[in-house]
Amino acid sequence: MKINKENIAPGEEKTIHLEVAKLPTRTAIDIPVTVARSETPGPTLLVMGGLHGDEINGIEIIRRVLDNDLHIPKQGTVIAIPIINIFGFIHFSREVPDGKDVNRSFPGAKNGSLASKVAYTLMKEIVPHIDYCVDFHTGGDQRTNYPQIRTVLDDSENAQLAEHFHAPVTINSKLIEKSFRWAASAKGAKMLVYEGGESLRFDEFAIQEGINGLLRLMKALGMRDDAPAPVQPTTIIQSSKWLRASASGLWIPKINSGDAVIDGQKLGYIASPYGDFREPIHAKKGGVVFGLNNTPIVNRGDALVHLGFPG
Ligand SMILES: [Zn+2]
Repeated sequence: MKINKENIAPGEEKTIHLEVAKLPTRTAIDIPVTVARSETPGPTLLVMGGLHGDEINGIEIIRRVLDNDLHIPKQGTVIAIPIINIFGFIHFSREVPDGKDVNRSFPGAKNGSLASKVAYTLMKEIVPHIDYCVDFHTGGDQRTNYPQIRTVLDDSENAQLAEHFHAPVTINSKLIEKSFRWAASAKGAKMLVYEGGESLRFDEFAIQEGINGLLRLMKALGMRDDAPAPVQPTTIIQSSKWLRASASGLWIPKINSGDAVIDGQKLGYIASPYGDFREPIHAKKGGVVFGLNNTPIVNRGDALVHLGFPG
């Protein structure tokens, strides 16, 4: 296997530095990529985090995997990239400094903008080697995601991988054009996106579920002998809806991320900071709260609760 003109032989572990771009100071920005190969041939699994630089739960998941040598496969190869968007990570930002989202810039271009170059480098150096990938994310802004796998469940192999991972929630999710999942799927990789917690905040439950799910997937791929058993059944979500703020004010949720709610249940209310109104937010239809806005101040129309439905 060759990445960035460096050869990685069976039985070897190496960290390769993929050079992406230079800052205005001429400081080189490169992406450290750890590759661990078994002597025994087998599939190649990519685990990556920080495609959005502020989504640190995924970065922490891969850090713990590397720190505890959980990435060393019994067969095949594991490619681990804790931080794809180095620019965003050092700026506490989702995007790169030009304001572009790397995850909407695939397949990228050699001489494109920063986001496009990061995408191009991944497509050229990493994607041709991989059979499977788990791309770790969190909710954006102050929206938290209950630990969940997003994949195209109509593809039976994806559905089976999601079942092996066994996150608390599994969502049938269409491919978004220009995303990494879209571009890598088109090259034949089987892609799972994991979402857990919110940006710039560690969420221990989401981190633990991410690690445990990854170990279960690695076991199913013959890369490990053991993995923690899932503690709960996975809830399958086929459709979803964001409930939005019907007024501007303070958002006081009365539910938690992961709760199952029933038809007509009051999920919280929007209150005037001056104490002169309270506007309840109801679930018209029962479902699972798999996304929740944790910001206390909202404007009319802002997303509050992401409800998932089995049908
Ligand atoms: Zn993300």
